[in-house]
Amino acid sequence: MPELPEAQSNLGRVREGALNRTVRAITLGETSHVDLPSEAERDRLVGHRFTETRRHGKTLFVGSASGPWLAIHLGMTGSLRVYDEGDAPDYARLTVEFEGDRRLAFRCPRKLGSVELVEDPETYVAEQGYGPDALDIDEDSFADTIGTSDGALKSALMDQKKLAGLGNLWSDETLFQSGHDPEAAGSDLTDGQLSDLHATMRAVLQGVLDTGANYEDLPGTWLIHRREDGAQCPRCPGTIRKRQVGGRSAHACDQHQG
Ligand SMILES: [Zn+2]
Repeated sequence: MPELPEAQSNLGRVREGALNRTVRAITLGETSHVDLPSEAERDRLVGHRFTETRRHGKTLFVGSASGPWLAIHLGMTGSLRVYDEGDAPDYARLTVEFEGDRRLAFRCPRKLGSVELVEDPETYVAEQGYGPDALDIDEDSFADTIGTSDGALKSALMDQKKLAGLGNLWSDETLFQSGHDPEAAGSDLTDGQLSDLHATMRAVLQGVLDTGANYEDLPGTWLIHRREDGAQCPRCPGTIRKRQVGGRSAHACDQHQG
């Protein structure tokens, strides 16, 4: 499931291939169970040029200073594809046709993503109640938010209203690398542990961003390569165990995260 770094990689493709081109039409593919802009909303974008991209947590924005913007949630399996006419991806739910051959498609095989038309990203983020972006949140705000949470650390890290951007994969990796039990309470952590957790989370996210979200390029000591119940921990003699935490599956070492 796309999280902050994967969302950022998708946005990179838009920046490289789909900005500063005039929108000729926006067409829909098979749309059942996917929220997409209405015909009137799509018509508002005809003649516009997208000149900017933004990201907050896992939400992507493509638009221009004067708006409107497309707010894109990738869901479980969504992605953005930039291509030239004739090379369309399958499962395209929404396609922006630019003048000439260039196209931007929102591809979503499992139909859990969405695209909305919004006036500006800041208002939208506030209305959704999202916390600060996980790469922007400073150490003090992180400590205030996570350090006052009595629930499981993993659930707190994944709560988009506390901080936006982490999902299952990178919350597990952050806890694995910082050596915390996913079920430990944030309120039990010391100031030093919260500071370390914040730094580790940033390093994990930045590390994935630096590879363009190509997981095979991540260090062999990362959990990502051993996310399997019974796998040997790459950091200690322990074993990776899968369990449920807050309704989500967590992978954690039974020794160094105990
Ligand atoms: Zn271990």
